[in-house]
Amino acid sequence: MTRAREKMRICGARTRTGGSCRVNALPQSTRCRLHGGNAGRPRGTPEHPSSKAARIEGRRRWLDRMREAKAAGQIEKIPGGRRAKGLPPLSKDRKIREAQRMIEKMMSERAVARRWGEGLTKAERLSEATDEALEVARGSIRENRGC
Ligand SMILES: [Zn+2]
Repeated sequence: MTRAREKMRICGARTRTGGSCRVNALPQSTRCRLHGGNAGRPRGTPEHPSSKAARIEGRRRWLDRMREAKAAGQIEKIPGGRRAKGLPPLSKDRKIREAQRMIEKMMSERAVARRWGEGLTKAERLSEATDEALEVARGSIRENRGC
């Protein structure tokens, strides 16, 4: 005998467009993960002062640690921050983004003095980027083989 399928409860919260939410409610709840107590602070609602103070304090401590690590030479640069000027935007796909970062790191290590695509036609840029990507791919294949 198969187990009776649980009847799925629908969230039904009023949405910003005026309709009602069609997402299945969480177990033991009448609302979905986006509309129940786990959903977090709604937009436009001020952050609680103690939460804000804790967030700022945590960030300050992290920055202190990073500055110490940088001064001690453990890290090259404090993570995060703005992307370098002249670089193409990062892809929305995680894998492609990862590959873009790898390529950009290798390109910066090679100290390509020329700025991205300066004085080149689109075709030349594509050709150069392809060559770079192939070399990076070859390098990573070699690394993975371990020869
Ligand atoms: Zn909902």
